[in-house]
Amino acid sequence: MKPLIVANWKCNPTTIKEAKELFDSVKKGIKNIKKAEVVICPPFLYLKELKEPSSLKKRNSVPLVGAQNCFWEQKGAYTGEISPSMLRDFECKYVIIGHSERRKYFGETDKMINKKLKAALREKINPILCIGETKEEREQGMTESVLKRQLACGLEDISKTRFPQIVFAYEPIWAIGTGKACDVEEAQKMGLLIRKIISKNARVLYGGSVNSKNAVEYIKEAGLGGFLVGGASLDAKEFIKIVKSVI
Ligand code: PEP
Repeated sequence: MKPLIVANWKCNPTTIKEAKELFDSVKKGIKNIKKAEVVICPPFLYLKELKEPSSLKKRNSVPLVGAQNCFWEQKGAYTGEISPSMLRDFECKYVIIGHSERRKYFGETDKMINKKLKAALREKINPILCIGETKEEREQGMTESVLKRQLACGLEDISKTRFPQIVFAYEPIWAIGTGKACDVEEAQKMGLLIRKIISKNARVLYGGSVNSKNAVEYIKEAGLGGFLVGGASLDAKEFIKIVKSVI
């Protein structure tokens, strides 16, 4: 399977003009790359502007756009929410669910994440489920138990037959935006744990201070399936280098 490289722009940039420039630069830089699947997840407001005018058939044009979040209901009186049905209608292939910033700043619990996963799967969107431990949990030797809990609760009542549709992102919270990426051996160990629980073929990404210098190790040495890239995805040159480093 091709490496999957997902750019999480978070709440950046602040204008459509900048978003278009960033997107176009990335698109130009990776236009001939067929050996990686690249997905850019901008703020919702920019999705329509950035998506290639495409039919379902052309969905694999490079890069795809994905969503950073979605709600668990499909429609109704839920002010401010974007539903999986809307993403489906928009032909969105991927949605990030359970990012640590959603858990931390917006109070998302494993239960809410479970509802969001089910709703996205129902609409045939591939959720990218983020899991990972805090610095304190790691220091207390709780990393594996945290991952097991997040997987067990997040996937509760979801049939195993749906698992191939889900992408798993191991994102140690202490490594996000800190410049302190996780050791390759540690990421590999957590990747193996996730695969042991889910399936040996599970698509597992690594996220946390990925850059063009460290990216390749997570694929070549740790055997992971790609990355979720935050900060470095806002720099077109650096992001293009990350993509090129792994193909
Ligand atoms: C993220 O927020 O998912 C992330 C991996 O961020 P960064 O690459 O900046 O550490």
